[in-house]
Amino acid sequence: MKLAARVGQVSPSLTLAIAAKAKALKAEGIDVCSFSAGEPDFDTPTHIKEAAKQALDQGKTKYGPAAGEPKLREAIAQKLQSQNHLSYRAEQIVVTNGGKHSLFNLMLALLNPGDEVIIPAPYWLSYPEMVKLAAGVPVILETDAASDFKVTPDQLRQAITPRTRLFILNSPSNPTGVVYTPDEIRAIAQVIVEKDILVVSDEIYEKMIYGDAEHLSIGAVSPDAFDRTIISNGFAKAYSMTGWRIGYLAGPTDLIKAVSTLQSHSTSNVCTFAQYGAIAAYTGSQDCVEEMRQAFAQRRQVMLDHLNAIPGLSCPPPDGAFYLFPNISKTGLKSLEFCDELLETQQVAVIPGVAFGADDHIRLSYATDMTTIETGMERLAEFVRSCF
Ligand SMILES: *Cc1c(COP(=O)(O)O)cnc(C)c1O
Repeated sequence: MKLAARVGQVSPSLTLAIAAKAKALKAEGIDVCSFSAGEPDFDTPTHIKEAAKQALDQGKTKYGPAAGEPKLREAIAQKLQSQNHLSYRAEQIVVTNGGKHSLFNLMLALLNPGDEVIIPAPYWLSYPEMVKLAAGVPVILETDAASDFKVTPDQLRQAITPRTRLFILNSPSNPTGVVYTPDEIRAIAQVIVEKDILVVSDEIYEKMIYGDAEHLSIGAVSPDAFDRTIISNGFAKAYSMTGWRIGYLAGPTDLIKAVSTLQSHSTSNVCTFAQYGAIAAYTGSQDCVEEMRQAFAQRRQVMLDHLNAIPGLSCPPPDGAFYLFPNISKTGLKSLEFCDELLETQQVAVIPGVAFGADDHIRLSYATDMTTIETGMERLAEFVRSCF
């Protein structure tokens, strides 16, 4: 069938495809160790589920405002103020069907054909595709382990042209786990202000931070930076609510209005009773977030110790998210080959770096139980040995 040109330029999500393949093998009874998941393995905390159940019982089952339940927008505004030092009014917030939807709608509302969006590589695989779907041009900035997978202010400055509209900042990062320090964020903010472009800060992993690392929201750097910042966040990762599909954007009023208008003609409101679960997530106790973070911190350490004990792999310890991103170049395999053979011979599922624009790497998620980590790392060691 003849399809629209716009779908011809994008590829389906490789991470979702591999996670699905691992699940299918498991369903056949094959003992797969999967490190492919891009989601926490915990159940959603009970008080959040209870709030959604109560909302159902109270008849919160009808259409609501396209921009989100007023109470939720208010709770988000308060969270951004108290936790991130960002002063948004509720009208400057739009509730979306997840962080992915937030970013997609942002591109649609912001970009004209040919507008450039600067994306540091390794990147979350949906960023370039979203930009292309909105007729924009992704401009990829390469980074590597030597630069800690971080873009330098000079690198950013040099990539900016008269067509540049937006810079995508994702700290903590998927797939590298890297966290920009507050000083690095300030230096990036300076370039954003000096060159007068916009930045979208994808802060979905802000709560998953280890050791001494700190999360600074770029909009909190200065009033000039705030005016040029759009915050994209959601409930999926911090509250283990991936299937609930709730995220949000915060930013300049006219942009948020435009996104609400888009939604009013496409998705309408996000599932009404799910939004009541999200209200409970932000207004209730935050202990659940810290408990999950501590579990991730332990698994991270165990996985790092195993990985760095495998001759031929190298993995710098990242400060955030729930991913490790080792270099596999010494094995002589490209990432897709590596992942296919690893799954085939050892039944271990990982994501090839090529999906994120980094073919010498693989991404391992430690959002899984310790037994899987222990067994999977032994099998991975065996596989890497067989490469030499
Ligand atoms: C998971 C994720 C999101 C948001 O996911 P949703 O489930 O759509 O809320 C956004 N950005 C990155 C980098 C992610 O990994």
